[in-house]
Amino acid sequence: MRRAQQITVLGATGSIGLSTLDVIARHPDRYQVFALTGFSRLAELLALCVRHTPRFAVVPEAAAARRLQEDLQAAGSATRVLVGEQGLCEVAAAPEVDAVMAAIVGAAGLRPTLAAVEAGKKILLANKEALVMSGALFMQAVGKSGSVLLPIDSEHNAIFQCMPADFARGLSQVGVRRILLTASGGPFRQTPLAELEHVSPEQACAHPNWSMGRKISVDSASMMNKGLELIEACWLFDAEPSQVEVVVHPQSVIHSLVDYVDGSVLAQLGNPDMRTPIANALAWPERIDSGVAPLDLFAIARLDFQAPDEQRFPCLRLARQAAEAGGSAPAMLNAANEVAVSAFLERRIRYPEIASIIDEVLSREPTVVVNELDAVFAADVQARFLAEQWLQRNGR
Ligand code: NDP
Ligand code: MG
Repeated sequence: MRRAQQITVLGATGSIGLSTLDVIARHPDRYQVFALTGFSRLAELLALCVRHTPRFAVVPEAAAARRLQEDLQAAGSATRVLVGEQGLCEVAAAPEVDAVMAAIVGAAGLRPTLAAVEAGKKILLANKEALVMSGALFMQAVGKSGSVLLPIDSEHNAIFQCMPADFARGLSQVGVRRILLTASGGPFRQTPLAELEHVSPEQACAHPNWSMGRKISVDSASMMNKGLELIEACWLFDAEPSQVEVVVHPQSVIHSLVDYVDGSVLAQLGNPDMRTPIANALAWPERIDSGVAPLDLFAIARLDFQAPDEQRFPCLRLARQAAEAGGSAPAMLNAANEVAVSAFLERRIRYPEIASIIDEVLSREPTVVVNELDAVFAADVQARFLAEQWLQRNGR
């Protein structure tokens, strides 16, 4: 019998983290949890540690670590608690670990995910922001360590499933003409433009098809999520931005498509449940049960498609511009968006101001070449500074 794979789940307390643990728990013979990490939801992390018995847990600071360690001991758990970014990098790169689910949200996930890449782990990549920020460097590190990189984002997992096995030879070499990246259009697809001034964080987070964390839910409402995914697709599949077309498909049943030169278009379909791409990547190249119900095409009955409206979704245009500019632009786009989305969730800005902030940051700072990680973080810091300046200047 083969040994169970040891899995580290970075961002275990989040939406993707919990779905990952749900799939893992269905296959105790195949997978064991090596480490779980949390940030603010530490009572949830304690319960997850008791249930999944990891060797390690990671929390952001020392006082929280002491409390969690005491609570774990009181619950009879042998889990050891580590602290901060160093702890995250340690459990991502530990020699015993086979695969790392990278599901921390935002730029905070970059260093631990890269630590897993450099240690040659199998990477299940949900944290798209890490790849958007550091694209070229990230892919170079994957090439150097021989790490296997598997996309968890449902669209990219769909594209991966529709690509030939040797797609790394280059899209034109394997006969791919275009990647068709589907988007639901989010909760504001049909909201009158004038009403967008007044939409609340709760409305933005009420996604019609997917249940997700708050940051990616706002990104889906603004379609910045699709913009980040466009950049993500370019890195994962070595595509030019012009080879990736966004298609609004409100039912979220087709998760993306690949268009071949002979006119064949391959699609991956499924219920909108992240356990499908998670199970696909965990077991790849095999297939395992994910707990997702079979697709009922008769209940769905129809599939609709529309072109995206860039007046309604200026973030999509800004992301495409950053993808085309390259260099530091995607890291700046991402950082400005993170600041703007937090400010929106804290009710300090109105929804359309998310795009205004990002637009201003990108137009004030020239794009520079990034040859090392320090340059990526410098771009991230500068964009956050400019976005904060916007907030101060506008009295927020
Ligand atoms: P959640 O907000 O639900 O979870 C985020 C996780 O990251 C939590 O475990 C959180 O800890 C942790 N975290 C937050 N901030 C930090 C920090 N500064 N340092 C360390 N850990 C931190 O997000 P999702 O699960 O929805 O998304 C996770 C990633 O997956 C994102 O990059 C998103 O874009 C991507 N993704 C998500 C999809 C989805 O369906 N949810 C689909 C496709 C991609 P705590 O909760 O304890 O505060
Ligand atoms: Mg997605």
